Amino acid sequence: MREYLIAGNWKMNLGYEEAENLVSQLVEAVDEYELDEGVNVLVCPSYLMLPAAADIAFDSNLWIGAQNVYHKTNGAYTGEISATMLAEAGAEFCIVGHSERRQYFAETDEMINTKTKLLLENEIYAIVCVGETIDERRAGREKEVVRTQIEGCLNGLSDADMKKVVLAYEPVWAIGTGETASPQQAQEMHAYIRDVLGSTFDTELAEQVQILYGGSMNSGNAHELLSCPDVDGGLIGGASLKADQFLSIVKTAYDLVS
Ligand code: PEP
Repeated sequence: MREYLIAGNWKMNLGYEEAENLVSQLVEAVDEYELDEGVNVLVCPSYLMLPAAADIAFDSNLWIGAQNVYHKTNGAYTGEISATMLAEAGAEFCIVGHSERRQYFAETDEMINTKTKLLLENEIYAIVCVGETIDERRAGREKEVVRTQIEGCLNGLSDADMKKVVLAYEPVWAIGTGETASPQQAQEMHAYIRDVLGSTFDTELAEQVQILYGGSMNSGNAHELLSCPDVDGGLIGGASLKADQFLSIVKTAYDLVS
């Protein structure tokens, strides 16, 4: 049975003290819920806050991840961070292919594919983001776009690799806009993603892959989205920056499995 993953993407937010406070609050709450069965909770702070966050969360039920990684192993790439460095800093997960990276940093499926492989080599779970723009949806191309992204990003991965890959369906038009995919839209795309995975990888394995929904998830809409059979959690931006809002989504997932 698939477990929920509730993942916070802090983006370029929260200074050192704020980050430490929030991680401490989450560790305390998540340990109290005894979430180890059925619900996993992750936060992805900025690179700078990663080691401190990993220290605070050490030996707790809170997972710590990064928001990005560079697609080379090492070398003259000023300002970049490798997968090996992330592993040393304590990252257990890493988001790749977020639409903001695709849009502002011109990331391609090919780069995301290399990043994913480097993360797996370093035993870091990869959260691979896919999703269409509003124009692509209006043109009825959302499935074609998502399929192309999945095929490009997961190219060359084995069934064994897929055990450390999580997919995140994030319609670009829903990220940070307050507009959410309806549960029907989310379920339809998540089921489609699972079919696409099943056509490339072992079908039983495709059933096990966690597919998160991302795009303005909050305490008000989490229940209906997380209740969809193929929605296995959330990738949450804005609502992950405040302990009470994020924990309310965690609690929703927890109530759904209890
Ligand atoms: C995200 O950044 O992945 C995201 C889904 O952001 P928000 O929840 O703010 O829409």
